[in-house]
Amino acid sequence: MTTTPASRAYGPLPAPAPEVHPETAAFWAGTARGELLLQHCQDCASAIWYPRFLCPHCHSTRLETVEATGRGTLYSFTLTTRGILDYKDCGPYVLALVELDEGPKMMTNIVEADPSELAIGQRVEVVFHDTGEGTALPRFRPVPAQNG
Ligand SMILES: [Zn+2]
Repeated sequence: MTTTPASRAYGPLPAPAPEVHPETAAFWAGTARGELLLQHCQDCASAIWYPRFLCPHCHSTRLETVEATGRGTLYSFTLTTRGILDYKDCGPYVLALVELDEGPKMMTNIVEADPSELAIGQRVEVVFHDTGEGTALPRFRPVPAQNG
């Protein structure tokens, strides 16, 4: 029997806990509550991802934390057939860039989807995978067309 990536079963992805640093602590605390948090620059109005101390656009330190809608579009993706480290034995999985509705692009995984049916520009929404250590990993799943 021949098994191709598109016909294999896609099991749950591992959810390794992230390293939490002072500039990312608020973000990771939000994930534990099921909130996707971004930073918003009060000087140039940019939405910022990944969390940091300085606005990457104007170097302001006047950043506030705001909750994102948790929705976006699939900007790019690839089917990873051979993972490493925590992903070594999980089988093929989708690594993706999602462009959030607020603007930033987030490296993530697409879950709860048949990879052969994914398309650039498709609407996606965040889901959180509990790491078991007080944080959760934001991943995305397709939104049914009538709800996007
Ligand atoms: Zn700024």
